[in-house]
Amino acid sequence: MVLTGGIGSGKSEVARALAARGAHVVDADVLARRVVEPGTPGLAAVIAEFGPEVVAPDGSLDRAALADLVFGQADRLAALEAIIHPRVEALAAEELAAGGDAPVLVYEVPLLRPEDTIPPFPSEATVEGVPVVVVDAPDELRRERLLARGLPDHQVTARMASQPSRAEWRARADRVLDNAGDLDALERQVDDLWGWLTAPTAPVSRPG
Ligand code: ADP
Repeated sequence: MVLTGGIGSGKSEVARALAARGAHVVDADVLARRVVEPGTPGLAAVIAEFGPEVVAPDGSLDRAALADLVFGQADRLAALEAIIHPRVEALAAEELAAGGDAPVLVYEVPLLRPEDTIPPFPSEATVEGVPVVVVDAPDELRRERLLARGLPDHQVTARMASQPSRAEWRARADRVLDNAGDLDALERQVDDLWGWLTAPTAPVSRPG
């Protein structure tokens, strides 16, 4: 399944709860960092596109400098995405295949736009495709939780503003997890989700 939803909605909590039940979780955010680690062709491609000023003194990618270069510039952002996305998707396909024995495969992505492709899931995927599960919570609650996590106010505002609305998220969902309650309430929904995902007739069930 694809696990997605707005920033602060609770994706990481759901991913952790699914992993605790035996799911193999692949996090696109983690992969997006790996593909530009020092020494990677990904980092070389970013430097070729944006110049050496995006490299920190220790040789790692200077994310703040890169963010300044692409901020508000659609063509620059598209150039960056053209470098990052194919590499993340290729790695995601490998990582999903590596978890082929797990009862449930989860690909956690921070954003799902209509044009985004989903890397191939091994045998799980049916002709109907891979189910999309969206974690949803009211904007004010997401804001509170992100501030409590230590994210600066201006970053919370900027990131939330750049994301789809709750209605847009929900429109993409095969299932919605409502994370307006406490963590126990979320766990109970993950139990239901797990039952659905592993039921013999579920779209992602595995034989045996
Ligand atoms: P995302 O991965 O979607 O950005 P997280 O799972 O990191 O969101 O959740 C954002 C913050 O809110 C985290 O600190 C998380 O522990 C907390 N959180 C998530 N769900 C709940 C909840 N139901 N009750 C209280 N805190 C929560």
